[in-house]
Amino acid sequence: MTSDPSASPEQPTPGALIGALSGFGRGLFRPRQPDERLLASITDAGLPRGDRTVTVRALPQVPRTLPAGGIIEGAGLHRRVRNAMTSFVVQHPEATFVVDPAYCRDAPHRALSELPGMLRRLVTPPADTIATVDSLQAADVRPDFALPTHAHWDHVCGLLDLPDLPVHLRTTERDWILGPGRPPVGGVRPALTDGRPTETYDLDGPPVATFTSSHDLFGDGSVVLVELAGHTPGSVGVLARTTAGWVLIAGDAAWHYDQVDLIRQKPAFPGDLVDEDRDAAFASLHRLHLARHLMRVVPTHDHDASNLL
Ligand SMILES: [Zn+2]
Repeated sequence: MTSDPSASPEQPTPGALIGALSGFGRGLFRPRQPDERLLASITDAGLPRGDRTVTVRALPQVPRTLPAGGIIEGAGLHRRVRNAMTSFVVQHPEATFVVDPAYCRDAPHRALSELPGMLRRLVTPPADTIATVDSLQAADVRPDFALPTHAHWDHVCGLLDLPDLPVHLRTTERDWILGPGRPPVGGVRPALTDGRPTETYDLDGPPVATFTSSHDLFGDGSVVLVELAGHTPGSVGVLARTTAGWVLIAGDAAWHYDQVDLIRQKPAFPGDLVDEDRDAAFASLHRLHLARHLMRVVPTHDHDASNLL
């Protein structure tokens, strides 16, 4: 069974692996149920004020198809869904930036080779997966900076081909990758350090919609970063006002939109191994579920959802 390309860079212990596999089997038939009390407790703080709009588009990418049950707990193994290493371009009147610079040239040697063998086999994307730098060049886009939703290899390793591009990174996430614990591998540290100009930010702004905190990127309410706790210590969503309505790039808070619609967590294998805090990640799904009528929620790896942009 396989799942998403953002599988944990750390070699799981045998105990963790057994626990995740048995949880996967349970979840096929008995997926974790939504928490009705949590749903009832979540309030809508309203959308950001302002009238400035931006454009959001997904750069072309080659998808692979996977069994839905490997992405969405309890979805079964017969249906298949399309999964991709997608990057997005946001154009604001003052700057153009790339969200989730996902993939680098020669990734099997420069990024995937750092992953433990078992996980590497699970997450390796198609050989014709497009490097972010190539899709940017093909689209004639010259970004002013990059903004990863989180610091997993498949959301930042495209920066290896863009060595001078500044990056905006949440302080929590930066502290995580530079901290004393085992850092995420797959080119994450080289992509985000090695002299790269970095502007850190905190989610010190007010609640927005159903999310608990925020950071207004341009100060005009057009692009607001929101808390999506659980997947990594500092995962964020990128909420953008477009002429067609609000769009939320949700990173890996969900791997597929059905998780948001049905409140279904990632399957225990590999979800137990890749989500930093499973309960917090499940709570974030509840917040996304309630927000889905206010904005178009686009999980980064959901090829069909990103194709709607
Ligand atoms: Zn991830």
